[in-house]
Amino acid sequence: MMNPATIEQMAAWLKDRDDFALLGHVYPDGDAAGSCLGLCHALRALGKRAVVCLPGGIPSLYADLPGADGVFATGDALPFEVRTAVAVDVSEYERLGDAGKALFDAAPQRAVIDHHSTNHGFGQLTLLDGAAASAGEIAVEVAEALGVKLSRDMATCLFVAISTDTGHFSYSNTRQETLAAASKCAAAGIDISGITARLYRTRTQARTLLLGLVLAGLHVSEDGRMAWAFLTEAMLEQAHALREDNEGIVNYLQEIEGVVFAVLAEERGSETKLSMRSAPTLDVAKHVAVPLGGGGHPCAAGATVKLPMEAAAQRALELARRALG
Ligand code: 5GP
Ligand code: MN
Repeated sequence: MMNPATIEQMAAWLKDRDDFALLGHVYPDGDAAGSCLGLCHALRALGKRAVVCLPGGIPSLYADLPGADGVFATGDALPFEVRTAVAVDVSEYERLGDAGKALFDAAPQRAVIDHHSTNHGFGQLTLLDGAAASAGEIAVEVAEALGVKLSRDMATCLFVAISTDTGHFSYSNTRQETLAAASKCAAAGIDISGITARLYRTRTQARTLLLGLVLAGLHVSEDGRMAWAFLTEAMLEQAHALREDNEGIVNYLQEIEGVVFAVLAEERGSETKLSMRSAPTLDVAKHVAVPLGGGGHPCAAGATVKLPMEAAAQRALELARRALG
């Protein structure tokens, strides 16, 4: 991996710099949004100038996070010239998106803070902990190493990052350190019930309709080990749903009893975004996502392929079947 850094080295590097842009990945999730915002609060607490840039702006699910109203869509004009770009939760350079790559490349100082073990590093400094369940878990330690007090706002953002990437502390990536980081957030006085009600016990009508449309087209293999479904642009239109309303649908496929590999194939113009999940017995990143040009984690991975939905899903199913033996 390129230019690895410890928490302390990264904190010292950040302290020496200013005029930050925190960059999340394309189709930002709770970890990208929450970690970028949490680190932005931490850097501002040190008196630094910092902004968050997310491709497409802040997803509506995270729009009420503290500081979310100040998030820029990557590529938008910024209030100052960025001197330090930090990619957070971005597993590879390409996942910055075109505008993100341009912003990152234009910054004289560039760093990466991430938890995807497939990350090779693409800045002058990379803080990577492949065992961390989320970038948010690492960000709590970075804030501590910066000597910043975990404020309620900071903790709210980081808790959302930690919670969403672990399925609210239920996926196999959840470890002692995950709960310790969440505990520090709780100590800052966050509203856990309010945050989780918004994230997990509330969904828009559009999101609910989309879920129904996708699940109505469910496929399960004869042996019951693989499940797949399609999310078309027509479904998005019919449900009046947004792209981001896809989040979590693949879990319903993976949760079917007996299923060890699940894939949601989502139509994106002439390309297909594959969202994949697996039981711990199958490393879906290694055996399916990476061979398809994507990446991710052992039990949650994805890829974007230049194939129509059906062909893309079949490629993933073939690779999974081969790996399952
Ligand atoms: P999701 O299925 O929730 O979109 O993504 C699960 C995980 O797979 C993400 O945390 C991310 O690491 C990875 N992932 C998703 N889509 C892509 C993709 O198109 N390319 C790569 N390299 N990784 C992806
Ligand atoms: Mn993440």
